[in-house]
Amino acid sequence: MIPQASTPLIDPFGRAITYLRVSVTDRCDFRCMYCMSENMTFLPKKEVLSLEELERLCVAFIRKGVRRLRLTGGEPLTRRNIMELIRSLGAYLKAGDLDELTLTTNGSQLSKHAEELYQCGVRRINVSLDTLDAERFTAITRWGRLEQVLEGIDAALDAGLKLKINTVALKTLNEEEIPSLISWAHERGMDISLIETMPLGEVEEDRIEYYLPLSLVRKQLQQRWHLEDIAYKTSGPARYVRVSETGGRIGFITPLSHNFCADCNRVRVTCTGKLFLCLGQEDFADLRAPLREDLSGRLLDEAIVEAITRKPKGHDFVIEHAGAAPALARHMSMTGG
Ligand code: SAM
Ligand code: SF4
Repeated sequence: MIPQASTPLIDPFGRAITYLRVSVTDRCDFRCMYCMSENMTFLPKKEVLSLEELERLCVAFIRKGVRRLRLTGGEPLTRRNIMELIRSLGAYLKAGDLDELTLTTNGSQLSKHAEELYQCGVRRINVSLDTLDAERFTAITRWGRLEQVLEGIDAALDAGLKLKINTVALKTLNEEEIPSLISWAHERGMDISLIETMPLGEVEEDRIEYYLPLSLVRKQLQQRWHLEDIAYKTSGPARYVRVSETGGRIGFITPLSHNFCADCNRVRVTCTGKLFLCLGQEDFADLRAPLREDLSGRLLDEAIVEAITRKPKGHDFVIEHAGAAPALARHMSMTGG
């Protein structure tokens, strides 16, 4: 066991920070139309934390009481040698210093890595999938191939991982397919979360065109199935219902409403070491300078403690009108969702 720091991270509103999301790369092998523009400029390598720096950063948070770690991106499994980091972090699981190590992935590299992920102690992962139609899949992801992702999902299930599917609800694009995606996921024993589009970062499309309120989706689903509100909670922001007919769960992630700020236990770090205290606010603390300047970790610890005192009570997103600038300039692939 590593020695726990005597003071856990508690923010000014009394929320204990026990969940860290780390974006390990801003790069991706897909270009989903709501997430990235087709011609993204990615960060120069020297600005991105090395795998060793990412590990030191995660360990600093584990020492301060973080019990759950989620790796995301960009596409985490496209980062070169990412399994080295996952293996090192897996040791903290085995030692009891961490309750969960997980990742959010587009699934394209899962066939290659699923078994090793399981061996490292990863037990559940989120896989993003917006459609089961091959053509539509390529229209939404621009560079992705559905078949490769479905193979990845099968490999992950075979390896013993529990999967949750994340589906962004997109008006006209996958709207009418949502019930069949839910049935497909539940038949395979997978939960599914539906996500509203968030106004993060410039993309070519006008997101209002595809914005589909989940309140509407829920109403439509209720005409087909009986949805039972349940108290089930993961460390994420989804509100869950159980579908009586399938026995599976659906999560609703509605970031545009404020309903999950009150018990927010999470912070996010970008691949350049920027610590964002809230997905919906610009304020951040730079952890890269203290990480690089002081190998003892003291400056890093101080920077983390100082930053947590600035965690805001909640956020303030609005998709206002057609053509409006995104509420926040950074892309989801920077903070990893
Ligand atoms: N590449 C991985 C993936 O797609 O799962 C991890 C990173 S991705 C940024 C994490 C999640 O954010 C995905 O489920 C994706 O669908 C979602 N996402 C990206 N941009 C979004 C946006 N503007 N609004 C809502 N969700 C978004
Ligand atoms: Fe890549 Fe994930 Fe963004 Fe799609 S949502 S472009 S897979 S980072």
